[in-house]
Amino acid sequence: VWVNCLRVIKANIGEQSFKTWFQPIVPVQLHNNVLIIQVPSQFFYEWLEEHYVEVLKKAIYQELGPEGRLEYSIVVDQGNAQTKPRTLNLPTSHKAAGPAPVATPAAALATGPMSSSARNVAAAAAQPAQPATLRNPFEASKAIDRNYLNSQLNHSYTFENYIEGDCNRLSRSAGLAVANKPGTTSFNPLMIYGGVGLGKTHLVQAIGNHIKATNTDKFVLYVSAEKFTNQFIESLRSNAVQDFANFYLLVDILILDDVQFLSGKDKTQEMFFHIFNHLHQAGKQIVMTSDRPPRDLVGLEDRLLSRFKWGLTADLQSPDFETRMAIIQNKMQQDGIDIPPQVVEYLAHSVNTNVRELEGVLISLVAQSSLNRREIDLEMAKQALRHIIEEVEAEVNLDFIQKTCAEYFSVPVELLKAKTRKKEVVTARQVAMYFAKEHTSHSLKSIGHHFGGRDHSTVIHSVQTVSDLIDSDKSFRSTIQELRKKFAGK
Ligand code: ADP
Ligand code: MG
Repeated sequence: VWVNCLRVIKANIGEQSFKTWFQPIVPVQLHNNVLIIQVPSQFFYEWLEEHYVEVLKKAIYQELGPEGRLEYSIVVDQGNAQTKPRTLNLPTSHKAAGPAPVATPAAALATGPMSSSARNVAAAAAQPAQPATLRNPFEASKAIDRNYLNSQLNHSYTFENYIEGDCNRLSRSAGLAVANKPGTTSFNPLMIYGGVGLGKTHLVQAIGNHIKATNTDKFVLYVSAEKFTNQFIESLRSNAVQDFANFYLLVDILILDDVQFLSGKDKTQEMFFHIFNHLHQAGKQIVMTSDRPPRDLVGLEDRLLSRFKWGLTADLQSPDFETRMAIIQNKMQQDGIDIPPQVVEYLAHSVNTNVRELEGVLISLVAQSSLNRREIDLEMAKQALRHIIEEVEAEVNLDFIQKTCAEYFSVPVELLKAKTRKKEVVTARQVAMYFAKEHTSHSLKSIGHHFGGRDHSTVIHSVQTVSDLIDSDKSFRSTIQELRKKFAGK
């Protein structure tokens, strides 16, 4: 049965991938339409689950029919002597694709007769950790049928349901431009940054979905920087760095989410740097997100940061009241929720932190309403907001920022709110505003308000001044870094 499966698979994917990922698999058992195969590591399992699940489904379906299932057994330790086979039963694949059965991908140890050509991948599993060498990581394998590669995109994130507002206009239109002409605009790479829950992931996924829908021959890949890092580390461990690199070089549109995660991870950065260069040079589109502006990405190598400047960097701000209204209304329509207008307004007014929070409140309202068989009303909304408001207060708040900055610069905290133009006070005030923008979800207007009723343009000016100083003045930069530590993790 497995041999027949392999035939199906072979017909559908490139030779290189077939050799690497399928030839070495060891069939273990077939019982009641359940085929068990042996794989060398969790990493292999995950890799195949991600990238070849469709072709595996197809093969199992053809061989075993709709009842057919695939399970895998993982070699826990390196070397088959310590093999502790574990049969894992996977839930139905995350991709609901057609009538295909649950399929679980696998690759296996270099133990069977098939494995002789299995390259370093399988060999690595048998020989305990040799330091992986980056021999020629960019010898890309070409003949992969991209239709079977999984983009890891969530289809519910689209441009249609991404509400436009002042807060996201530039990012959104840059995203659309990239989505329409991937790799050929000057927005390469496109870097979107903004605080948590402001729609970074949604936007970049929308780009990916749009490209996928309009360019079926392009391989779009969405990956979080965290996952990228874990995959890379695992590939080092299993001596499969080359396969890791080869795979990423196949990508036409690479979307790397939360790039700040690479901070301090030098090896991973180096790998990403090479992949970046290679893809960029080949005219492939790169899209990234970060929770802070590139200049604040401490712990990222300069050569990588300088690459980010090649394209366009655009930010996402907190949505204003009208945009929040529109987001709620859109969500209601999408999910068929009915909420009285004054409640919608109350929510849009009260939840001014971020969009994720706003959606969270909506969901909990809907849940409560159906649980208690009660229409959603203002009372219920107020109740639901109670814990949110507490959470907001628990995050670094403006008072704390003001107090900390005032202390640091040895000025009385009241002066931050006064009219004083004394130099030390001005610096402390500007730095405090800068951190207020970075660490709280207050709008510029609200920040200004908390600094003695200054207007939002003063806040913009302060933030800009501080950012410029960070760029131009080394000692100032370390001051900021030191202060930032006081707010980090809060
Ligand atoms: P981030 O990645 O910046 O933390 P997400 O992209 O995960 O934020 O967004 C959080 C939630 O808010 C998601 O459910 C997303 O769909 C929604 N969202 C964010 N911005 C918008 C927008 N402009 N229109 C509609 N929904 C949005
Ligand atoms: Mg995100």
